[in-house]
Amino acid sequence: MHDTQARAQFDLSDEQRQIAALAAEIAQREIAPHIAQWDRDHAFPRDLYAKLNDAGIMGIIVPESYGGVGADYVSYALAIEELARVDPGTAVTVSVHSMICSAILRLGTEEQKRRWLPKLGGGNQIGAFALTEPDCGSDAAALRATAKKHGDGYLLNGRKQWCTNGTYAGVTMGMFRTGGGGARGVSAFLIPGDAPGVSVEKITEKLGIHTSNTCDLAFDDVGVGTDALLGKEGDGFGSAMTALASGRIGIAAQATGILAACLEQSIAFAKDRVAFGRAIGAYEGVSFKIAQMATDLDAARMLVYRAAALADAGRPFVIEASKAKFFASTAARRHASEALQIHGGYGYTTEFAIERFYRDAKITEIYEGTSEIQQIIIARSLLGKLD
Ligand SMILES: Cc1cc2nc3c(=O)[nH]c(=O)nc-3n(C[C@H](O)[C@H](O)[C@H](O)COP(=O)(O)OP(=O)(O)OC[C@H]3O[C@@H](n4cnc5c(N)ncnc54)[C@H](O)[C@@H]3O)c2cc1C
Repeated sequence: MHDTQARAQFDLSDEQRQIAALAAEIAQREIAPHIAQWDRDHAFPRDLYAKLNDAGIMGIIVPESYGGVGADYVSYALAIEELARVDPGTAVTVSVHSMICSAILRLGTEEQKRRWLPKLGGGNQIGAFALTEPDCGSDAAALRATAKKHGDGYLLNGRKQWCTNGTYAGVTMGMFRTGGGGARGVSAFLIPGDAPGVSVEKITEKLGIHTSNTCDLAFDDVGVGTDALLGKEGDGFGSAMTALASGRIGIAAQATGILAACLEQSIAFAKDRVAFGRAIGAYEGVSFKIAQMATDLDAARMLVYRAAALADAGRPFVIEASKAKFFASTAARRHASEALQIHGGYGYTTEFAIERFYRDAKITEIYEGTSEIQQIIIARSLLGKLD
C-alpha cells in the first residue's frame, strides 16, 4: 500500500505500526469486497463490528484492565485512517464509538467504567452520542431535552437528531437540561440502549457514509438513576466538549483516510488513462493536482498525529484537534472533487470508488463541529472572546 513520507517519517512505535497494519488488513479483507454493495443498500454491517471487536479495534483505547487493548490515540488515529481509506462510513462508526469509550474513561466514575467499558471495549456493544436536536446543532447550549428530578433519579424527555450509531447503541451519552438556560443547565447521562422509553424515531438517508447509521432518537419518560450521570449535574456541556475534542481527532483521521484513498486512486488512474497520446499524469493540469493532494495528505497526517500524541501525553490538545479537523476535512472535500475530476466521466460513475469518496468527504466538514465552529475555537484561542 502507498505510504507517504509523513507516515514513514513520523516516529511511530512498532505497536502503532502493527495496529495500522491490522486495521488495513481487516479493511481489505472484510470491507473492500462488499463496500460497493453496502453503499448501494445503505447497509449497516453488524457482523463486521463483531469482527472488529474480536480484532480489538473497538477497544483500541480502552485499557486492558477494562477488557480493551490499551493502545494510544496515535494508534487509534492510524486505525481510523486505514478504515476510512476503504470505507469512511465504517471509520465514523468506530470513531464515535471510541469517543464514548474516551468520555467514560476521562469523566466516568469507577463504577461506570466497570459497567460500560468491558461491554464497549471487547463485549460487542456500540456507543452513541446524542447532543444535536432538531432546533440546535452548533449552538448546542440551546438544547431543550430535559432531565427532571424524579424519585432517586431523573426522567429524560426530548428528541435527539442525527445520532451516529443510535439504532444499534448499547449505551448513548446524551445531554439533557437539568437546570436553567445555557451551557450551565446541561448534564450528561449514560443511557442504556434498551432503556424503556428510548425509541428510534427515524433513520436518516444521507448523501454519503451510507454504511454509517444515523437516526433520530426519542426519549419519552426514560427513567435513569443518579448513577447514570456522567460527571456532575450541570457539567454536561463541558463533558460533551471534552468528548468532542477526542472525537475530532477521529474525524480528522477519517478525512485523512479519504485523502489517502483519493491520492492512491488518482495516481493509478493518471498513469493508466491515455489522452492525446500520453498518460494524463504527464499533463501538469493533472500532475499538479496530485502534487497538491500528496502535500495536503502529509500535512493532514502531521496535524492528526500531533493532536493524538498530545492527547497521549496528557497535554492540552483541544485546539490542535480543531486545527487537524479543520485542515483535514477541508482538504478531503477539495481533493475528493479533484480526484473525481482526474477520473473524468468515469469518476462520475459507480464503476470507480471515487464518486463514493466524493459523497463521503463532505460530512467531515459538518459533524462534530462544522468548519466554521472549528475556526471559532482556533480564533478564540488566539484573540480571546471579543464582544
Ligand atoms: C451524518 C450526520 C451524523 C451526525 N452525527 C451526530 C451524532 O452522532 N451526535 C450528535 O449529537 N450530532 C450528530 N450530527 C449533528 C452535527 O454535529 C450537526 O449537524 C453539526 O454540529 C451542525 O449543526 P446544524 O446541522 O444544526 O447546523 P447549524 O448549527 O444550524 O449551522 C448551519 C450553518 O451555520 C453555520 N454557523 C452556525 N453558527 C455559526 C457561527 N456562530 N458563526 C459562523 N457560522 C455559524 C454552521 O457552520 C453551518 O454552516 C450528525 C450530523 C450528520 C449530518
